[in-house]
Amino acid sequence: MKITTSLFLGCTLLTLLNCKGISNEKNEIEHPKNVILLISDGTGLSHISAAFYFKDSAVNYARFQNIGLIKTASSRQAITDSGAGATAFSCGLKTFNGAIGVADDATPVENIVEIASSKNIQTGIVATSSITHATPASFYAHSKSRENTEEIASQLPHSTIDFFAGGGLQFFNQNKGNRNFWSAFTKNQFEIDTIALTDFEHIKAHKKQGYLLAKDAMPKFSEGRGNFLSKATALAIQFLSKEASGFFLMSEGSQIDWAGHENNAEYLVSELIDFDQTIGKVLDYAEKDGETLVIVTSDHETGGFALAAEKHLRKDGTEYSDYRDIEMVFSTKGHSATLIPVFAYGPGSKEFIGIYENTEIFHKILKVTQWGNR
Ligand code: MG
Ligand code: ZN
Repeated sequence: MKITTSLFLGCTLLTLLNCKGISNEKNEIEHPKNVILLISDGTGLSHISAAFYFKDSAVNYARFQNIGLIKTASSRQAITDSGAGATAFSCGLKTFNGAIGVADDATPVENIVEIASSKNIQTGIVATSSITHATPASFYAHSKSRENTEEIASQLPHSTIDFFAGGGLQFFNQNKGNRNFWSAFTKNQFEIDTIALTDFEHIKAHKKQGYLLAKDAMPKFSEGRGNFLSKATALAIQFLSKEASGFFLMSEGSQIDWAGHENNAEYLVSELIDFDQTIGKVLDYAEKDGETLVIVTSDHETGGFALAAEKHLRKDGTEYSDYRDIEMVFSTKGHSATLIPVFAYGPGSKEFIGIYENTEIFHKILKVTQWGNR
């Protein structure tokens, strides 16, 4: 009797273990319905660290558990620019610096917005730069050069984007070729607002919605942009989620990069905190929704930024580091080659752990969403 019992227990235990093994395997990849990709242009680990030292309230980066690192070199350069960097995310391939949505041989490549749209997924982009700037442009345009702003602008009305918000009004109504893109917007069912973000109630009946709220870039956060980034991102989520099929949204804190180029620490920290507030709003939504994958990353680091110890001079003129205080310093006016952190939350987020190429962001999104399956 004793032997039978222990045999029985043993078998039960084995069965339980087996069951657990099988169910784990089945649930290995979780499939999100929505994807929100938040890009903070030019943001490395020291930039993010600055939020932990200089933000007065809780830092939203701390809410992520699945974290990775990306290698950001472009096809021809060790150090990428934002065109090649964003094209790696939007099209999943390495291309040359300055390229927008084209391969290394300059041929146009299908981007994630086009792929998702073909599956009836709603798509949107938000940026604090002009909407024609390299990062947002890589999600709807195809051009050999980021400098071809008129060519890039001409492609937005014809794109499959459903919602956009940013600056860049001048590229749509007063461009050099004297072309006017308003009729193209109307023809393609876009409602465009050039005054201010509106409430969802005002736009919910529109098929497609665009906001062009500055002549070129949006103002700096410190110069009156207010909570545009988090508000436009929240409005985009509301607008894109009115269809039940799912959505893809790319939202960019564009000016962290510009602060790095200027070696302006105050500008950098204020833009970074604005971006972190946006992360908070997006995570609040994703936590409630439960079907949204959130990815936060950057195309590259700008400024060779570091949190160094404050430098002081001794009486004899020699320099020493005072470890009691942080001094924000820069080592370049350009970009750097440092690995860039990736933060992921929600279904599919475990896929983003590890060290991999920037192009994998695209492939991992398609793997977990299955939007690329024909
Ligand atoms: Mg950018
Ligand atoms: Zn830059």
